[in-house]
Amino acid sequence: MKFSPLLEDLINALKELPGIGPRSAQRIAMSMMKGDRAIAKNLSRAIDSATKNLKFCTCCHNYSEKDVCDICGSVKRQAKGVICVVENPADVLAIEQTNEYGGIYFVLHGKLSPLDGIGPKELKLDELEKLLKSGDYSEIILATSPTVEGDATAHYIGHLAKHANVKATRIARGIPIGSDIDNVDGSTLMRSLNGRMPL
Ligand SMILES: [Zn+2]
Repeated sequence: MKFSPLLEDLINALKELPGIGPRSAQRIAMSMMKGDRAIAKNLSRAIDSATKNLKFCTCCHNYSEKDVCDICGSVKRQAKGVICVVENPADVLAIEQTNEYGGIYFVLHGKLSPLDGIGPKELKLDELEKLLKSGDYSEIILATSPTVEGDATAHYIGHLAKHANVKATRIARGIPIGSDIDNVDGSTLMRSLNGRMPL
């Protein structure tokens, strides 16, 4: 027996989501089509709006509804002259929650991984280099994960900073090797940020 093509379509679309297998996709699809379908309609509206209106900040590349996000647009934050490089938007949130950091960010949306075809171009490091060379920043904090790729990424950016005469520091202390920044508790992250070391 087959489901209706429309239901089949929905199940197939859900299966594409990370962490959702065929059975979960089926269960979610069934549950969404029950009753007044309010949850499904709400989800559809949110996806539609986000895909149409969410863009990347032209300065830090974090998700933003505006060309320049609130953090990059803040005169006070720009005046600190510090850029914190993170792998993912979730890391920005984790660092913001410590209330310890007053500069701007640069979101890589990944880390250098030549085997997966992720090089400097994919991480838009040429744009980071432009920021470093602008003369507006005196320090770059490398808050990439303490993994092999995270360390390689930090070192690569460290070289760019050196060429641009910007001090590069690395957070690491207290963060378990191999873990993601956004999985680290706030106080550990705070200590790690405050105890950053020259690269
Ligand atoms: Zn921004």
